[in-house]
Amino acid sequence: MTRLIFLGPPGAGKGTQAKKLSGACQVPHISTGDIFRTAVAQETDLGIKAKAYLETGELVPDALTLGLVRERLTAADTSNGWLLDGFPRNVAQASFLDTLLQELEQPFECVVNMEVPDEVVIARLVQRGKEEGRSDDTESTIRNRLKVYREETEPLIDFYRNRQQLVSVDGNKPVEEVTEELIKVVQP
Ligand code: ADP
Repeated sequence: MTRLIFLGPPGAGKGTQAKKLSGACQVPHISTGDIFRTAVAQETDLGIKAKAYLETGELVPDALTLGLVRERLTAADTSNGWLLDGFPRNVAQASFLDTLLQELEQPFECVVNMEVPDEVVIARLVQRGKEEGRSDDTESTIRNRLKVYREETEPLIDFYRNRQQLVSVDGNKPVEEVTEELIKVVQP
């Protein structure tokens, strides 16, 4: 059973690593960012409401986010576990997740905190913006995403550390080396 939460600034490599582990552990990679981007591209109701937040790098309001996480974590493919990437992103989301996982009797193993210095994440995101054309990888949006991360998401590091659920991993290394570290976390 693998249930991991990935924490870290934008550009830390949460998505990259979660995708690799998802293949290795045979559990779904659940990225709220991916869910929102798909909804925006398909112009669903959710996508229309979420679009402006993604474009400016603000958090999509919890009123739109919590319900979709509940829906996703109760889908059939999650019975063997999951890798959560991009959620929770504030204390209210973390509390909601606690309650939800208790209700579903799905305790998670740990929170992986991916540590990468600011200047490295900025360089990675600028590069990704050029390569993939992701519309939120522009300089002003990157700055705002980092600000939102510091203000809203970073407090979760202490939240989980105080509960002894945090494992920090150096994300400023080649992708393969980070993956090896993470596999040690999953299979100690
Ligand atoms: P990154 O980690 O590089 O910022 P994500 O794909 O995780 O990329 O998120 C992209 C955007 O999607 C965020 O800037 C935010 O607007 C929205 N988003 C993703 N997850 C959440 C969440 N849990 N709560 C609110 N908004 C979210």
